[in-house]
Amino acid sequence: MGQPDPEQRQVVVTDSLRSGLSSRGNGMPYLELRNLTQQFGSQKALDGLNLSIEKGELVSLLGPSGCGKTTTIRLIAGFLEPTAGTVWIDGRDVTPLPPERRRVGIVFQSYALFPHLNVFDNVGFGLRAAKVPRRQIESRVHRALELVNLPNEANRAVFELSGGEQQRVAIARAVVIEPQILLLDEPLSNLDASLRQRTRQQLRELITSLQTTTVFVTHDQEEAFALSDRIALLSKGRCQQFGTARDLYDHPANEFVARFIGRANVFTLPFAAVGGDCLCLAWPSGRELRLRKPADSARFHIQAGQSCKLLLRPEKIGFEERAGTIRLFSARLLSYRFAGAWSEWEAEGEGVRLWIAHSGASPTSDGPLAVGMTKDLWVRVEDFQVLDV
Ligand code: ATP
Repeated sequence: MGQPDPEQRQVVVTDSLRSGLSSRGNGMPYLELRNLTQQFGSQKALDGLNLSIEKGELVSLLGPSGCGKTTTIRLIAGFLEPTAGTVWIDGRDVTPLPPERRRVGIVFQSYALFPHLNVFDNVGFGLRAAKVPRRQIESRVHRALELVNLPNEANRAVFELSGGEQQRVAIARAVVIEPQILLLDEPLSNLDASLRQRTRQQLRELITSLQTTTVFVTHDQEEAFALSDRIALLSKGRCQQFGTARDLYDHPANEFVARFIGRANVFTLPFAAVGGDCLCLAWPSGRELRLRKPADSARFHIQAGQSCKLLLRPEKIGFEERAGTIRLFSARLLSYRFAGAWSEWEAEGEGVRLWIAHSGASPTSDGPLAVGMTKDLWVRVEDFQVLDV
C-alpha cells in the first residue's frame, strides 16, 4: 500500500498544544471589539464595530469586498491603531499593546512564508524572535508540525510544498506561539475547489480540537456557513447582523442580510390598511395580501400610506396546494436553472418577479414544468417576513 495522501490525513492534536485553553461557551466575552472605528483619510473603513466573542468560538467576518474585514483583523492583531474604540482580550484592554504582546497568531491569504527559510525555520520564527531557548523551539515546532500533519517535512524548502501544505505550515507558524486568538485572513482562497473543501474540513477539526478563539475572514458565504459557530456580516464598515448561520438565513435583520445570505425574494408593497393584528398590503395589481402583524412589529412604525419590505425565500413557494397554504397568484415561468437537488425558476405574476426553488425530484401532479407555463403559486402567509417599513 502506498503512503496516504498527506492532504487527506486526519488532523491529530497533541495535548501539549492545547495550551492553557479552557472549554468554550461560558457566555463571557473573550475577545471584545468596542466601538472600533478606522478612518483612512476621508474613507471610513470601520464605523463603530461592536463584537463580543466567547472563548473557543470560531467567528467568521463575512461581507463584500471593501466592507472592513481585513481592517478588523489588523486592528485585533495590533498592526493598526484604531481611530476610535478599543480591543479587549480576556478582560484586558490591549489597544495600546504592540502586536508581539497580544499573543495573536495570524495566517494571511498569501501565507507570507519566508521563501529562503525551510519549514522548520518558518514555523520557529516567532519563537526565535521571542528568544525562546533552542531546545524548547525544537520540541514546540515538531509538535506544531505534527498537529498540522506535516511531521516529516521540517527540512523541506517551502517552495517545494503544495498550496495546501504551505497553508498548513502557515497555520503551524501561527499556533506554535500558543496564541490567545487565532486570526485567519482568507486562508483558503489560494486553493483549488476540491482541496479547499478538504482543507476547510481539516481546519474546522483542528480549531475545534485546539479550542482557540478564532476569527476567520471570508467573502464566501458557503465557507462561513461550513466553518463558523457565529457569523458577523459586515457592510460598509458596520456589522449588519451577528448570529448563527441559521439566524442570518431564517431571521435576517434587514434587506442587506436577506439578499447576501442565500437567494431572496424581496417585495416592497404599500399598506392598503393597518388595524388590529393584521397588515393588509397591496400587490402592484391592486390585489390584497393579508398578513398577521409580526410579534416584533413595535420596532416598525407601521402607518397606512407607507410601504413595507417583505422577504419570501424561494423554497417557501410551491406549485401545489399543501396544508396551510394560500394561493399567492398565477405566475408565468420565465426561466429555469438546474441546481442539482433543486431547480430554480424565475416567474412573474401580479406585476412582480420572483424566484421559486423546486425539488428536482418532485414533478407537479399535472406533469413536468416548462418555461412559458402559467402556474398557481402556493405559500404559507407566516413564511412572509417583514424586513422593514
Ligand atoms: P476584501 O474582501 O476585498 O479584502 P475587506 O473587507 O477586507 O475587503 P478592507 O481591506 O478592510 O476590506 O478595506 C476596507 C476599506 O478601507 C476599503 O475601502 C479599503 O480601500 C480601505 N483601506 C484599507 N486599508 C487602507 C489603507 N491602508 N489606506 C487607505 N484605505 C484603506
